[in-house]
Amino acid sequence: MKNDIAVFGGTFDPVHLGHLRSAHHVRSILSLDQVRLVPSFEPPHRKFPESTVEQRLAMLRLAVLDFPGIVIDDREILRGGSSYSFDTLESFRGEFGSRCSIHLIMGMDAFNKFDAWYRWQDIGHLCNIIVLKRPGNSLVFSSLMNDWIKDRECSLEQLKGQPGGRICFVESEQIDVSSTEIREDLNRGLKPSMQLTTKVASYIQVHKLYQGRYINA
Ligand code: ATP
Repeated sequence: MKNDIAVFGGTFDPVHLGHLRSAHHVRSILSLDQVRLVPSFEPPHRKFPESTVEQRLAMLRLAVLDFPGIVIDDREILRGGSSYSFDTLESFRGEFGSRCSIHLIMGMDAFNKFDAWYRWQDIGHLCNIIVLKRPGNSLVFSSLMNDWIKDRECSLEQLKGQPGGRICFVESEQIDVSSTEIREDLNRGLKPSMQLTTKVASYIQVHKLYQGRYINA
């Protein structure tokens, strides 16, 4: 039996409704049993997360309680070291076999820089890539990527049944939020963002996360 999945990687520092609603949207348009949120241990292309691995995982666990079918996959945390998506996708492919469809979800901002990722073209063989429109971001990629995309771009209908190798651009509900904005607001003493689930917002308040950390930074 095929067991198609979608994988959504990120630092989730903290997880917000932009992540959760995007994951839910992909799950429903592709009729998937599961979307796996994969928190990175050490993101290779950006600075270290502010909250600890345990705190990011705790917030994710609380967040998914309100989103059935969205589950957490901690393989990058267990693997340790730099969290290369290539290694993660290879591990999913090994686990799920060659026939199952694996869809990697990326926001447009992440996809614009995709050709800087370790073994990005190999990632494109291992899985399909679903690029979600994100407010404030438009598609701007290199000519190399442009040609690479042309050979792979397909519609949602054409994506179904494809194990990997395709790219699909998807319209989704526009949720104008980023973890950076949430951290900055908290740092300025503002209340937790409405773009957090209530449980995650309470966790942040109880554990006093993201408060005063930029002072003298
Ligand atoms: P930060 O502001 O710290 O960079 P972020 O909000 O961009 O965080 P990440 O955890 O870095 O979140 O991103 C994980 C993935 O989620 C990326 O592919 C990113 O493009 C996507 N993403 C984040 N926020 C949204 C959003 N509001 N809508 C659609 N995709 C999003």
